[in-house]
Parts: sequence; C-alpha cells; structure tokens
Amino acid sequence: VTSLSAQRQQLRDDAYRFAMDEVLPVANELDPQKADIPRELIAKMGERRYFGILIPPEYDGLGLGIFEYCLVSEELTRAWMSVASVIARGNGLAAWSMTDDEREELLPKMARGEFIGAFALSEPGAGSDVAGVACRADRDGDDWVINGEKMWVGWAKAADFMVLFARTSPMDPKQRQAGITPFFFRKERDAFPPGIEARLVDKIGYHGMSSWHLTFTDFRIAARERVPRGEGTGFRTAVTGLNTARIHTAARACGAAQGALDVAMDYAKQRVQFGRPIADFQAIRFKVADMATQTEVARRMWHSVADAVDAGGLHDLEASMAKLFASEMAEHVTSEAMQILGGVGYTTMYAVERHWRDARLTKIFEGTSEIQKRIISDRLLGKAGR
Ligand SMILES: Cc1cc2nc3c(=O)[nH]c(=O)nc-3n(C[C@H](O)[C@H](O)[C@H](O)COP(=O)(O)OP(=O)(O)OC[C@H]3O[C@@H](n4cnc5c(N)ncnc54)[C@H](O)[C@@H]3O)c2cc1C
Repeated sequence: VTSLSAQRQQLRDDAYRFAMDEVLPVANELDPQKADIPRELIAKMGERRYFGILIPPEYDGLGLGIFEYCLVSEELTRAWMSVASVIARGNGLAAWSMTDDEREELLPKMARGEFIGAFALSEPGAGSDVAGVACRADRDGDDWVINGEKMWVGWAKAADFMVLFARTSPMDPKQRQAGITPFFFRKERDAFPPGIEARLVDKIGYHGMSSWHLTFTDFRIAARERVPRGEGTGFRTAVTGLNTARIHTAARACGAAQGALDVAMDYAKQRVQFGRPIADFQAIRFKVADMATQTEVARRMWHSVADAVDAGGLHDLEASMAKLFASEMAEHVTSEAMQILGGVGYTTMYAVERHWRDARLTKIFEGTSEIQKRIISDRLLGKAGR
C-alpha cells in the first residue's frame, strides 16, 4: 500500500519472489526438522548481495540504507524469519573493528555471504541488563584471555567470525556500563575452537538459525584483534547496534504478520462451511481488515524511522516505538491468522504456525517489549526515582 520509489519497489518485488520461490520451500522442509539454513540458500542470498545491502559498492555491496535492508528483510520473513535474521550477520557487522586491509579482504566476502558472523552479547545473567556483562577479558602478553559465558549466540557454529563483548576492567557499581569492550575474532566455519565449549539451545521456534550457549575457558584472542575503537566502548557499540536491530525487528515482525495474513486470506477464500467460503462471513472479513490495517500501521512506523535514520541520527525513541508496536501487533495478527484457519491452524500443515512462533520471539529479542516501554517512558517522563 505504501508508496515506494521505483528502485525500492523493484528491490521489494525481487525479494518477495526470491522468498516465495527459493526460501519458502526450504523453510517448509527444514523448519520442522529444526535445521539450519542450508549453505546453498546462503549462497543464493549472497549472489543477490543481501549480506551487502549496507556495504559500500567499492566493497562489492549494494551501498543502500537501513530502509532497503529492512525492506528486503520484511519480504524474506514472509517465508522464514531466520533468513531475514542471518543477513544481520553480514551487512557490515564488525566493520568498525577491521583494519583497512581487513576491510579490503573481508567486506567483499561478507557482501557475498562468504564471511558471516555471530553476535555474543547476552549472558545467562545479563539479558535485558546489558551492563551486567560479566564475561572477562584479561590481558596476557600479546593475547586477551576470555573467561565466562555467552547465551543465545545465533549462528555461532556456522559463523566465520564472532563479535564478543567482555569486561576489560572490573565492574564499577556506580558506572556499570563502563569497562565493557567489543572484540572481533575469526574462527573456522562449522566448528568451535579450543577454549569454547558449546551447547545447543533447544527452542520452540526461530529454526534455521541455531542458538548456542557458549562457555569460554582461557580462550585466547590475539591482542592485535582487539577492536580498534578501544577498551570500554562496548556498551555504546552494543546499544548503537541494537537501535538498527530494533528497526530490523519491526520489519521482520511485519513480515511474519504479512506472511500469516497471506496464508489466512488464501485459506478463507477456499474453505467452505455452511455452504459458503468462510471469507464471506463478516467475522472473518473484519478480522482480515483489522489484520491488514495493523500490519500497515506497523510497516509505516518502521518505514518512517528507517528513513529518518538513513538521513542521520539515532532516532532511538522512534525505533523503540516501532519495535514495540510491530512485535505486539505481529503476535496478535499471526494468532488471528491461526484462528481463521481453525483446527488446521493448530497443525504443522500451514506456515501460519511458524509465523506465530517466530512472531512471538520479536517481543523478546533485541530488547523485550517491557524494555522498549522503559526506554519510551523514560524519554517521556524522565527516569523514575530522580
Ligand atoms: C531465540 C533467541 C535468539 C537470541 N539471539 C541472540 C544473539 O544472537 N546474541 C545475543 O547476544 N543475544 C541473543 N538473544 C538474547 C536476547 O536479546 C535476550 O533474551 C533478551 O534481551 C532478554 O533477555 P533475557 O532473556 O535474559 O530476559 P530477562 O532480562 O531476564 O527478562 C525477563 C523478563 O523480565 C523483564 N524485565 C527485565 N528487566 C526489566 C525492567 N528493567 N523493567 C521491566 N521489565 C523487565 C523482561 O521484559 C522479561 O519479561 C536471543 C534470545 C532469543 C530468545
């Protein structure tokens, strides 16, 4: 419904066709097996430069903005959310930590989907409370020595590199956000190096991208691989990254809602009860009207904040609002889609159940709905208790 430039429309239509032709059949087959996105699909996404939407053309990327990155992501999610998520593991992730030589070598590979990373921020004891990071990095000669745990690390085994947040100075209770440093290190694909013990987290959805609980024991990172941005910049780096991730999550939530709505509309036109397609019943028609309206409102919110961020500035208040609204909306809309399908909605015969499980996650990761409300209300009212 929203008006897009011809270039954006083309990008969106291409992504939609790719999602339906290439991603959907793979999702339908592999999601029930809790399997990872296959390399062949990653390669096809790489050919389209979906891992390089934000990477400048001189590094073989598309050189486009957050808007286009989210536009593609929404369309991919109409088939499988994890496919839209894995592109966040390219698109310049960790570019800030690379030397000029590394950029020359790694960014073109990243744009082609041949150098994809994992993001290790959360810990068993530090989820919403990012400043609670306890994983330690201690300097020993030419190395940093990592000890601690990281939780939920998506794509960790398949990754070619990892971004890891660790404390390089003890926590100061008065300044908890200080002393966290981002590290970037390369690793062998489909393996964990010595010093990292990994356990798979068994999830109810978001398959395609397995999540890992990692324990680091005297894991060594060469000191030259320390992020050039410097010690203690981790909290700011994480929070800035999360801002884009929230707009990206809003777009993914819209994709899950739209994907479920597409299935529900098709089904409603075909399913006959009381001698008529159920799409003739006003109860179903009004549901569809509400679902489409809510999805479009959420879409316009992420469109607006993505354009604003591309024009400059963080716009974190609006990013939080877009994320909050879209993820709550997506849980509701995918559930309504399930209702339209009746009993078969509650089976694995239709993609609606996958969209419902995946939409549910958007309320939790990249900052829960409660954390978004905290950010928004703090901004509007000032922090509580001051
Ligand atoms: C499938 C999946 C994939 C993920 N992938 C990654 C990844 O790749 N890398 C990574 O680093 N992390 C990842 N995460 C972690 C994710 O970002 C965290 O789960 C999320 O931030 C919430 O943290 P938590 O699970 O520890 O919940 P908690 O922080 O323990 O929250 C529990 C409940 O308390 C509420 N709460 C907490 N603090 C407050 C407060 N101040 N005010 C009000 N309510 C509050 C929360 O909203 C929530 O309802 C992933 C998580 C999941 C589930």
